[in-house]
Amino acid sequence: MAEFVGVVTEVGGKVGRFKLGDHAGVGCMVNSCRSCHECARHHKNYCPGMIVTCNATDVDGIITYGGYSDSIVVEEHFAVKFLAGMPLDRSAPLLCAGITVYSPMKRFGLDVPGKHIRVVGLGGLGHVAVKFGKAFGAKVTVISTSPSKRKEVAERLGADAFLVSKDPDKMKAAWGTMDGIINTVSAAHDVTPWLFLLKTSGQIIMVGAPLNPLEIYAFPLLLGGKSILGSIIGGMKETQEMIDFADLAMKRGKSKTDAPKKAIITVLNFNLKDERNKQNEREDGD
Ligand SMILES: [Zn+2]
Repeated sequence: MAEFVGVVTEVGGKVGRFKLGDHAGVGCMVNSCRSCHECARHHKNYCPGMIVTCNATDVDGIITYGGYSDSIVVEEHFAVKFLAGMPLDRSAPLLCAGITVYSPMKRFGLDVPGKHIRVVGLGGLGHVAVKFGKAFGAKVTVISTSPSKRKEVAERLGADAFLVSKDPDKMKAAWGTMDGIINTVSAAHDVTPWLFLLKTSGQIIMVGAPLNPLEIYAFPLLLGGKSILGSIIGGMKETQEMIDFADLAMKRGKSKTDAPKKAIITVLNFNLKDERNKQNEREDGD
């Protein structure tokens, strides 16, 4: 999706949340229809007219290049504010992977202490899911086919438990113990064994995207009223909330701050096309 972060170098006259020099980010979308049901309830990520940050055509005909650009002109609503001191280079992935796991955790009530979350797959999404789960105060179990990841899970990510999916005895011992499963796997796989791990009314939340159809046996779903559902990124309001929460969590964890990688961001809240034309004229004159 080519999300990115940087420093605000220009602001429009009506911009309220940003000033010159602020740190800001742009997530996975830069526009939406603004009139549909999803836009009205802050779920622009589900708007049929959502325009993604990279490799899309905006309403004014401009191609979006996202983080492959040196700078971006973006409306205030689609910019995310980063508080001073938040390490930009380490925070940029939160605008895609972070909100992708944060949003369903919040929506399905997995963001409270005492919940037991299982994270499947330890790529970018899985790593962030473990971090957010721990920051919420939940118990986090990572499941993997590879026993070799146990050390990384415990020491580096701070997960509470590690389960090897190829160990049938351990899997059976974990039946009915988990409130929700964040499934980040994008390869073809069988989710049925995982349904048994859920408590009553638990959910498998698909945030990975296997190309092949899933084969699911209905009985494990029916028994216990379980569900399998999907989720993709989050709305802008929720994305800002996620960044603010991550900032607090990082400070709580006394994270080191690294030198930020800087891009240039211009935030505005008036005619996008006019502003882009002005920017193009300025660049042409350079
Ligand atoms: Zn819409």
